Amino acid sequence: MKECPRCLLRESAENDVYAGVMDRVERIPSGERSPEELYRNRLEACRSCVHLISGVCMKCGCYVEFRAAYRRLRCPDAKDRKW
Ligand code: SF4
Repeated sequence: MKECPRCLLRESAENDVYAGVMDRVERIPSGERSPEELYRNRLEACRSCVHLISGVCMKCGCYVEFRAAYRRLRCPDAKDRKW
């Protein structure tokens, strides 16, 4: 897989990796899930972040499309938290 700064997973990974992540997102209980607008806003913030490489946050190692889907989780960049 080619490294892609500022790409989300859906834009940079093999389809099966993205499908696996989205399958895990679908399994998050609805009460713990980020509402759609919050989720989209979080991912847009990640897309303009220098720490995003090929869908992975270099601050925490998470696929951002998974991390952003958990409402209680926050951007891990303590010095410049974007969400
Ligand atoms: S540091 Fe925050 S905004 Fe940047 S990629 Fe990670 S989760 Fe997204």
